[in-house]
Formats: sequence, structure tokens, C-alpha cells
Amino acid sequence: MDIPVDSRTLLKTCTSTKITELAGGRYAHLGMTHNLEDAIHQTNVEQISLLINVDGIPLSKSSSRSLWPIQIQIFELPEKCPIIIGIWEGTSKPTDFNYFLEPFVTELQQILVNGIRYKTTYVHCTVRAFICNAPARSSLLAIKGHSGYYGCSKCTQKGASILGRVAFSNKRKKKRTDKDFTNKSYPEHHVGETILEELNVGLVTTFPVEYQHLVCLGVMRKLLRMWSQKWARKGKAVEENWEKLNVQVLKTYSTYDQARSQLNRAETTDLESQSDSN
Ligand SMILES: [Zn+2]
Repeated sequence: MDIPVDSRTLLKTCTSTKITELAGGRYAHLGMTHNLEDAIHQTNVEQISLLINVDGIPLSKSSSRSLWPIQIQIFELPEKCPIIIGIWEGTSKPTDFNYFLEPFVTELQQILVNGIRYKTTYVHCTVRAFICNAPARSSLLAIKGHSGYYGCSKCTQKGASILGRVAFSNKRKKKRTDKDFTNKSYPEHHVGETILEELNVGLVTTFPVEYQHLVCLGVMRKLLRMWSQKWARKGKAVEENWEKLNVQVLKTYSTYDQARSQLNRAETTDLESQSDSN
């Protein structure tokens, strides 16, 4: 009997991937259908919904080259690892996101219509959400950046310039709807067409706001910086001031200086990664 020397022969593992020149870089589409079929194998799911992530990762500090993976996770099977669908590699970011996303969108369209084959039946598949940070979200949707006057992806208010920054009022304004997006009812919010419209999913409701950059690295970090700088300037005993913050996470650090250098470090790291995704 002929027994293969490598398990990949039995598992029919793909051993080579076609790389194409695309959107100013190189792109490998690893595919979604067979990965989803494998993921739902031996599960009892009757339908699945996908969480989709697209973001840039700097390759090194000394160059502007970066990777842009497209990843999915099945919401109903959180124990399964995220699946990489495609990877773009190049300088900074894809020059045209519609070209970059085209192989992914084409395959996903088929899956949304036909479902995923499992034994003798088909498992229905939907898009639950796109999980992206603010710079990636505006690139994918071809909308104004989050610091633009019409950059809010959830409501229609125009931001105001205050001390050189665009600020949004907390007064309630009309919410954006999926229909508004499709009809481009507020043209100043858009900078172009997005290929994601071909998926027929709500492009306002499937893009939730993103906690890490808005809260942890956004509002919270800004407050910490303002508090620490303000108190440092007043020359008060720093340990005493730090106690006033009374924020549990800061108690992780034993001294004020340690916490402050951590805060500065978080800022530098994030600014670097943001400039890479921008
Ligand atoms: Zn808003």
C-alpha cells in the first residue's frame, strides 16, 4: 500500500499560493470557502455570521512596508481561530481599496447567496460586522477620515474646528442609516465608491464604532495625559496626584514615573501604527 510521506497529501493542504501584483503591492488570496467548510465541520451550526477585520500591520520600524491581512471569525464558533482570507504586502497601504478587496468581495458574494456546503445541505451565511479601526474603516468605506468635518460614520452632524482640532458636539443629530449610505444622501461624507456595496449589507450598521481606539487609546488616554500634565505643572507631590486619579489600571505601576512612561510609550506606539494605517 502506498502511504504518503507527508500528511499534507492526505489533507489536501494547499502548498502554493498565487501572488498577484495588485493595488500597488503584492496580494495573495488564500480563499474563504474551503476554510469555512473546514471550520463548520463536526459542528451543529445551522447558520453562521461573520466578523470581518481588515487592518494594516507595519513590518518593521525601519521601513514603511506593511501587511494588510483580511481576516474573518465565525461569531457562532468563538473557540475557532480567526481565518486569514487574503494578505496584501507593500508600501504603506493599498493604493486602491476596491482592487485590494475585489477577490474577497467576489468570493463572499457567492457565499452569501449560496451558503456553505456541509454534508448534504448548505449552511446559511451572513455578515455580522466589520471590525476595523477608524483609519481602516474610512479606507474601506471610501468615507471622510474620522477627523474630518463630516467624518462621523454614525450621525450627520458637521464637526467644528476648536483650537485646531475637529470636535463633535454631544447634541443629538440625525443618525446615518444604511439607506442614506447607499443613496449617498449626504455626499460630503463620501470620498468615492466602495466595492463593499456589492455585498448588499448595511454599511452603517455593520461597521460598529471601535472601542480600543475611541475609548482606551482615545478619550481615556487624552484624559490621563491632561490630568498628569496639569498636575505635574502645578508642582504638587506626584504620588499624591496619582492617587487622585484612582484608576484601577494605573495601580499596576508602582511609581508615577513608571505609569507616565508607559502612557508616553502607548502614545508613540499608537501614533506609529496610525500613521501606517493612514
Ligand atoms: Zn456622530
